[in-house]
Amino acid sequence: MKKFEDRKKPLIFYYGIMLMILVIFNIFALPYLSQQQIEETDYGTFMKMTENCQIGKVQISDSQIIFTDKGDGTIYTTGLLNDDGLTQRLYASGAEFSGEIVKETSPFLVLLLSWFLPIIIFIAFGQFLSKKIMGKNGPNSMMFNMGKSNAKVYVKSSDGIKFADVAGEDEAKEALSEIVDYLHGPETYEEIGASMPKGILLVGPPGTGKTMLAKAVAGEANVPFFSISGSEFVEMFVGMGASKVRDLFRQAKEKAPCIVFIDEIDTIGKKREGSIGGNDEREQTLNQLLTEMDGFEGNNGVIILAATNRPESLDPALTRPGRFDRRVPVELPDLKGREEILKVHSKKIKLEKSVDFSLIARMASGASGAELANIVNEAALRAVRDKRSVVTQSDLEESIEVVIAGYQKKNAILTDKEKMIVAYHEIGHALVAAKQSHSAPVQKITIVPRTSGALGYTMQVDEGNHYLLSKEELENKIATFTGGRAAEEIAVGSITTGASNDIEQATRIARAMIAMYGMSDDFDMVAMQTVTNQYLGGDASLSCSAETQTEIDRQVVALVKKQHEKALNILKENRRALDKLAKYLYDNETITGEQFMSILDSVEENEDRQN
Ligand code: ADP
Ligand code: ZN
Repeated sequence: MKKFEDRKKPLIFYYGIMLMILVIFNIFALPYLSQQQIEETDYGTFMKMTENCQIGKVQISDSQIIFTDKGDGTIYTTGLLNDDGLTQRLYASGAEFSGEIVKETSPFLVLLLSWFLPIIIFIAFGQFLSKKIMGKNGPNSMMFNMGKSNAKVYVKSSDGIKFADVAGEDEAKEALSEIVDYLHGPETYEEIGASMPKGILLVGPPGTGKTMLAKAVAGEANVPFFSISGSEFVEMFVGMGASKVRDLFRQAKEKAPCIVFIDEIDTIGKKREGSIGGNDEREQTLNQLLTEMDGFEGNNGVIILAATNRPESLDPALTRPGRFDRRVPVELPDLKGREEILKVHSKKIKLEKSVDFSLIARMASGASGAELANIVNEAALRAVRDKRSVVTQSDLEESIEVVIAGYQKKNAILTDKEKMIVAYHEIGHALVAAKQSHSAPVQKITIVPRTSGALGYTMQVDEGNHYLLSKEELENKIATFTGGRAAEEIAVGSITTGASNDIEQATRIARAMIAMYGMSDDFDMVAMQTVTNQYLGGDASLSCSAETQTEIDRQVVALVKKQHEKALNILKENRRALDKLAKYLYDNETITGEQFMSILDSVEENEDRQN
């Protein structure tokens, strides 16, 4: 945006410069150009030169006499005196009378020189500058390119990204390889009368490699790749977006076969509603897009890929057959996918041989491809900071926490009491989880404050891919979330604000169990709420009567309360382990899952022996 402001200044600036050039030129250069050098002299010298026959040419005007030296041709001027015999004497000296010694510069030439030349210079200069300055910003300078599309053309296909560069995402790659196949040999498809889908929608959470996949399709098929973001269509002026769409498709048709990639299509493809004050510009742009998609025939080689992370908000007209009718899910990577992504990105950095990718992948559960790429880069940065030449396992482990929880806050020092409370809180979660599942619940807990605001960080154990959760598992989850607060109550005797996020999560699960999963006693299998935003947090909206809502609330509270009590009981039964683990965490600020389990086991053995 800053560049736009910069661009306005030079225009006024140019006019200033132009005016200055004109003035300077007229004052100094023009007189010099239009007049030859003339020396002034006295009348006596003139008379003497006349006597000595030194005068070459002479011109007598009303106010002065201009004459030349016969020898070296110098031009002199002198005042006019009342000298009667002058003409005779001059004639006698053999001087040449002539009408004109100093050439009067023609007025046309003066005009040309003084006005047009600077303008021509100025324009040439301006052209040069505009090429030099604005050229860098591409052809999207507002002034010169109103309404042209900004679609970037990658002539040599798409940074050379191939499917091999996209780790994991095998299902998505498989779905897209058909497109590549089609672009390689459309004849096979035409022969049988099949036509390719015009539009394919890549849906999934941010950072899962949707853009990369689109580039890879172009890369594999070796065709040009046009890319534009939905937000670039939405312009200040109504109609501009539509004209950009037109322009984009015109360009694409010229370059067919090719891939057109529209990122964040939801910005223009949102459901059109009859609401007052709707976005006219957006609707026009969307209409234009629909028209363009209908306009070209099935087999002209332009394939449109679009990415979004809110597919449910798209206008049905956009997703109907013949438009973006194919949907390719691009999900968060699973354990194997994470490991592969880590490996792909680690190729660029120097790694210690002993690095265990599968452990890192397990630790980074829930991370997207973009986050994993970031983790690898953070690890490399950390190695540089410590002046090491290779990246180690611990670099990678620490950078997981950095990427997910933020940097360690160096100067945020917890008071002893706060640190103790945080230690109890985190151990509370872990202990309740361990007692319910009978296995190590965490990879690691640290109680170093993070820039994200978290006071501690718990790295959960990756439970592998879970597609179904039982009612008991969900209840256990709620109990685990309440475990932090429960530990505070038992050990410290007071409660803190540290549990706000736990409360939110526990409530969310409880509400979903009752209103969505049919896990309550009286609602049977009736859905009281629906998920509206699957890939961005998963907001839910209620759809039931006010009385039912009250009843849902009552049941949610009862459910959470029951689990909270369960957590309190577990911790009370294991009071000694709780104290010992919290003390360990308080002293060391970090505890791994193995250390956790060995302390827990040793405390239990002790208790058994005493009984
Ligand atoms: P999206 O378009 O889904 O938001 P991008 O395609 O822009 O995500 O991915 C952002 C970055 O994350 C990529 O440049 C790449 O470095 C990394 N990345 C994401 N997914 C993968 C993957 N499956 N394999 C390798 N790198 C990935
Ligand atoms: Zn907590």
